[in-house]
Amino acid sequence: MIPAVSSPREAAILIVDDAPANIDLLRATMAQQGYQTFVATSGERALSIARRVHPDLILLDVMMPGMGGLETCRQLKLHAGTEDIPVIFMSARTDTEDVLAGFDLGAVDYIAKPLHMAEVCARVRAQLQAHSHTETRWEQAQRLRMIVDNMAEGLMILETCGRIQYSNPACDAYLGYGPGQLAGHAIGDLLAAPLAQEYLAWFDACAADPGAPLASGAREVAVRHRDGSAHPMDLTVTPMHSGGEQVFIGLLHDISHRKQYESSLERAALVDPLTKIANRRHFDRFFEQEWQRAVRSSEPLSLLVLDVDHFKLYNDALGHAAGDGALREVAAILQAHAMRPTDLAARYGGEEFVVLFGETGADAARALAESIRARVEALALPNPSSPTSAWITSSIGVATIVPNQLDDIAKFFVAADRAMYAAKDAGRNGVAAVDAGSSTWEALRAMVKL
Ligand code: GH3
Ligand code: MG
Ligand code: MG
Repeated sequence: MIPAVSSPREAAILIVDDAPANIDLLRATMAQQGYQTFVATSGERALSIARRVHPDLILLDVMMPGMGGLETCRQLKLHAGTEDIPVIFMSARTDTEDVLAGFDLGAVDYIAKPLHMAEVCARVRAQLQAHSHTETRWEQAQRLRMIVDNMAEGLMILETCGRIQYSNPACDAYLGYGPGQLAGHAIGDLLAAPLAQEYLAWFDACAADPGAPLASGAREVAVRHRDGSAHPMDLTVTPMHSGGEQVFIGLLHDISHRKQYESSLERAALVDPLTKIANRRHFDRFFEQEWQRAVRSSEPLSLLVLDVDHFKLYNDALGHAAGDGALREVAAILQAHAMRPTDLAARYGGEEFVVLFGETGADAARALAESIRARVEALALPNPSSPTSAWITSSIGVATIVPNQLDDIAKFFVAADRAMYAAKDAGRNGVAAVDAGSSTWEALRAMVKL
């Protein structure tokens, strides 16, 4: 009795022999050893079973009618799914030439017939042990495929000409394609033309000179989705040799979430938290841009400065929370008046607001200011202690200029602010305007007596 081998995983043995008696004996012995067994009585059957079940070892009879053992072995070695399965030949022909022919074909061992079961068991065990530690190429490929199929990063294989050879499921999902649909597309289908050209030039350089820099590094690019929309992604491209062919591995990492987060941070940095309109920082940036644009276009620019009247009294009478609510309502009125892309309403500080109107002359600006003043009053927010009015009111200064290179943006702002104080001095709940008329700062200075 041959002792059974305890194995953590039951090894599968494919037994190939045209003689039923041999099959029965081998099957019983292998089963008794604890192996799972498959049998085939011809080379053709052996090939089909091997491809299907991928056994750990094949015991292969050399002399069989039809496809002989040697040919069967050759076929096994030709097929990627079966090439790594160890094959032990069994034959009565033990001439050196036959044995050598078997080894040449990739057999790992040779057992002489008639079979001695103890020897068969020992040789099978030895081969299984030798192969249990080395992952077969097929298993390696399977494992790599599993990783590539399940990774969160998009992976593409690109040819030097920019053609996409392969894309993994994450890449397909990122870009809205079905399995295999990206293959055959060009890198220019995914990236803007100048960027695609840049990569193609680099591919050529890598192909021509293997000493060229190895990786392009991760860079943020806009990748075109199948629906035409652009998605921000990090792209890393690395050259690689595969089977003598130069290819490039592109790794895509979707950064839209990070981008959304960044843009929400950016928005937060530009928005006043109480009133949700632009803050001072946003306004200052916008003001500078519009000023420069007005210098180039010679279009008039108007600036409103609004201060809530007797707001301290309002707070004192109704509480700070009510004060906050009033500021929100005033802000909404300003926002509703700053409708065009060249307009911007902002909270400049405390209960002081500003509105910039691009391409807006003095008359239109004054009318807008008057409309705002009237709307604030019409809110009819009671300000019981105010000596000016029973309601919340505002004082608005307006300045208009057609700026030139010599004019000073800060002085223009001061002019609007001074105009606001002029409206306060005139009794509050009113509008005061200064119109530079000409494009020179001196004219404005004369009008507001700076
Ligand atoms: P004037 O007509 O001269 O402008 O009188 P005023 O009371 O409005 O002027 P002052 O500058 O003395 O008071 C401004 C008040 O605005 C003081 C402050 O408590 C209030 N204020 C500033 N920021 C806020 C805020 O965010 N919320 C509230 N509720 N009140 C604020
Ligand atoms: Mg005030
Ligand atoms: Mg104030």
